[in-house]
Amino acid sequence: SQGSDRFEIITFKNAFHGRTMATISASNQEKMHKSFLPLLEGFKYVDFDDLEGAKAAVGPKTAAFLVEPIQGEGGVRPASDAFMQGLRALADEHGIMLILDEVQCGVARSGTLYAYEQYGIIPDIMATAKGLGGGFPVGACLATEEAARGMVVGTHGSTYGGNPFAMAACQAVWDVVANEEFLAQVRSTGEKLRSTLEQFIGNYPDLFTGVRGKGLMLGVMMTHETRAFVAHLRDNHGLLLVAAGDNTFRVLPPLNIGDAEIQTFMEKLSAGAASYQMPQAA
Ligand SMILES: *Cc1c(COP(=O)(O)O)cnc(C)c1O
Repeated sequence: SQGSDRFEIITFKNAFHGRTMATISASNQEKMHKSFLPLLEGFKYVDFDDLEGAKAAVGPKTAAFLVEPIQGEGGVRPASDAFMQGLRALADEHGIMLILDEVQCGVARSGTLYAYEQYGIIPDIMATAKGLGGGFPVGACLATEEAARGMVVGTHGSTYGGNPFAMAACQAVWDVVANEEFLAQVRSTGEKLRSTLEQFIGNYPDLFTGVRGKGLMLGVMMTHETRAFVAHLRDNHGLLLVAAGDNTFRVLPPLNIGDAEIQTFMEKLSAGAASYQMPQAA
């Protein structure tokens, strides 16, 4: 059945979709809800990468799935192929939308222009931002013709939407990244960085447990909370990384780094790991 009785969106645990009222409500993370209650209704949270859970959550009011193909803040966790393809199939079966949040993993970061390409699926709606403006603040929402049917002139707008300066910034980025040679370079640099990291962490089994991600969106998993280590690298070794969920820190370098930058990075990371005092368990 189609129509306005369907408003529920199924989202996934440890997702991050931003800080508007709706996207705070779309996340199950209580630390984000604090101080912003009451939330918008209509969001159901299911375990990430749990296709059976997603299937069980679909009901008569379900309008869409909303998912990051690679969870960013949640710990650089790529969804499995079976999960993404299964969500696409479920959405088709029930006549609901598959909405992808590629704000962090999109725009060449994962080694393809958008991560969904690696799953062999096509979303109905997709959010893109972060890398889109190469540092200029801009975001966009893409939709298929069918999904955009209701969004006619006058239904939605934004004071700064479509401003020519932002569009020029996007075009400049696009001219560089929407290019098979550039994307191949991101993939090979990503593989190089990943295998270098994998080799390195073998020297510190007490600190690190693995590397995951796609392209130049990599996460290093630690045996304990990452924030103290990230602060240590910043304060003592001049290295900027970002902590994420699930005891993981993010390695998301500029997409045009070369061997020299990887070497500098690894030197700093090695020095940081060697000088790090692991916090004692309380
Ligand atoms: C950064 C990000 C957003 C947007 O976050 P804002 O704080 O609202 O700018 C949305 N989704 C994902 C996956 C992100 O990484």
